[in-house]
Amino acid sequence: MSIFVRNLVIFLILLLPIHSFSAEIIASFKVPVNNKVIDKIAEEFEIVDRSDGFYTVYVLQQKINKFKSLAPGAVILEQDINAKLHSPSQLLRSGYHSYQQIKDMTYDLEKSYPGLAKVIKYGKSNKGRELLALKISDNVATDEAEPKVLLTAATHGDELITVEVLMELTKQILAGYKSDLKFTDMVNTKELYIIFNINPDGFARRSRYASGIDPNRQYPWPGKSGHVSTLSCVTSIIKFYEKIKFSGSIDFHAHGKLIMYPWAYTRGKVESHDSVEFQNLTKDMAKSNGYRYGQISKIIYVAKGSSADYYYWKTKSLALGIELTTSKYPSKSRIPSIVKETSEMTWKFIKHF
Ligand SMILES: [Zn+2]
Repeated sequence: MSIFVRNLVIFLILLLPIHSFSAEIIASFKVPVNNKVIDKIAEEFEIVDRSDGFYTVYVLQQKINKFKSLAPGAVILEQDINAKLHSPSQLLRSGYHSYQQIKDMTYDLEKSYPGLAKVIKYGKSNKGRELLALKISDNVATDEAEPKVLLTAATHGDELITVEVLMELTKQILAGYKSDLKFTDMVNTKELYIIFNINPDGFARRSRYASGIDPNRQYPWPGKSGHVSTLSCVTSIIKFYEKIKFSGSIDFHAHGKLIMYPWAYTRGKVESHDSVEFQNLTKDMAKSNGYRYGQISKIIYVAKGSSADYYYWKTKSLALGIELTTSKYPSKSRIPSIVKETSEMTWKFIKHF
């Protein structure tokens, strides 16, 4: 056996554990936008894209029969949307950071920027992983009377690009303090909280779900106010959000190039003065990158139990959901340009408060 072949065999064996914890299998289907039971489909399944007259719907393998009875004419797009993500060749070239690396980088930022960055533990996931937020502000150890803004990624653990982009933006803010006026101003006048992994159990496995459940359908909403999720990553962030009293938040998802605001659970509008503020803000943010902007339920689909609805409903904060780029884990070479298309709109959002 040549050294090359032997190394390859060793490498493939090393990959096995990664492969064996691979996530639930999700198929994707195409459904025409004029489907009469689309709201019912949206309640049970996740619509992730709307283009060219069709929705793309994610369906867990064990729910395929149920889906087919609701949408008998639906065309299958992919049997396993994450097949590429979990294949050895994809892992080889992906270059995306692991759960452990992101955790280490979070603590490294605290070490590199004492006085500006501080790690806060706000709970533990169902599988016992620490839920971490990085607070960034001048006098970071003190809670000052400054607007509080939350930026989060990986609510869906397979949307890997969201974590990379948020990490880069965070580094830019910290590195730019005292050398770039806009970052100096942000750090001096706001308290920023960054959460790279809302759903670490999902992210560690490169899975959309946590314990087989979609976290972004687990938040209470006006039609289901008493709902308490079994997911600790959801109940913990809810407590944290209410404790810190955020003025606004962005939950980054992928993909779709969309800047979205509540409501998601209904096609009805939020209170009119809030609706105007959401519209003006997202329109302004979209100027920098040409993303589409609008109300979640209108721009894409009706979804019940999303974080944006909950945060707006309970605290009247400006809570956005943003779908980045055109893929959940684009090739690594595209990351810098995606960071670029995300940065201006994010700075505008923070400055708004
Ligand atoms: Zn998502």
